[in-house]
Amino acid sequence: MRKQIAAANWKMNLSLQQAEELIKALLETNHELNTQHLAVFAVPFPYIIPVKQLLNGRQNVFVAAQNCSANKNGAYTGETSAEMLQSLALKYVVLGHSERREYNHETNEELAKKVDIAMAHQLHPIFCCGEPLQIREAGTQNSYVEQQLKESLFHLSAEQLTGFIIAYEPIWAIGTGKTASSEQAQEMHAHIRNVFEKQYGKAVADSISILYGGSVKAANAVEIFGQPDVDGGLVGGASLVATEFSAIINSLKK
Ligand code: PEP
Repeated sequence: MRKQIAAANWKMNLSLQQAEELIKALLETNHELNTQHLAVFAVPFPYIIPVKQLLNGRQNVFVAAQNCSANKNGAYTGETSAEMLQSLALKYVVLGHSERREYNHETNEELAKKVDIAMAHQLHPIFCCGEPLQIREAGTQNSYVEQQLKESLFHLSAEQLTGFIIAYEPIWAIGTGKTASSEQAQEMHAHIRNVFEKQYGKAVADSISILYGGSVKAANAVEIFGQPDVDGGLVGGASLVATEFSAIINSLKK
């Protein structure tokens, strides 16, 4: 079975004290994680080290960054490089979240560069894609998402894409309380897998973990994660509540 992943995206939330309390509360809960399961916490940059220290020694639990620069180093005030993240022994980085695409104008081409520099520094991208509401209403979401994937990822080799992590996040479902139905999620996830199968073959496509993101909570996680092509979730709001995220981790497919 490909990896089943519960990824928390804290975005720009929590004080350090609140972050530590949240992690401690989560660590007190029993999680049904096996070797095919991962829990990942995409935390703000200043919390990478303290959260990593709290999670030290936990099996299958990792910290992620929420972004990295497309540039190697130099005069880029306020940016964080992949090399810096590697030097913290980080293994995961979220790339192309729709909020960064919107507020920081990240394009598919720039994201291709971020993917490359991240992978060159042994970071696994959690690569986000997903359509805005007007595209969904026009019914062109499949080609929209396909183009995001092609322009940012199709220069990679089959080997690089084996075990890759994608997060499909329909923008109209992020932070809105409006979840895609499990049928809508499955339909898009199957499409994404098919896009990779056409280009790279079935073995690569089957190895890719495709997470769903968009108002996932404890109450809907089992149904969404139960879909055959949904391999877990990228979770914003509900990841800030220990009981919610705990239940979401335990909703991963066994
Ligand atoms: C996200 O930030 O990636 C997300 C899916 O947020 P939420 O779960 O709050 O919709």
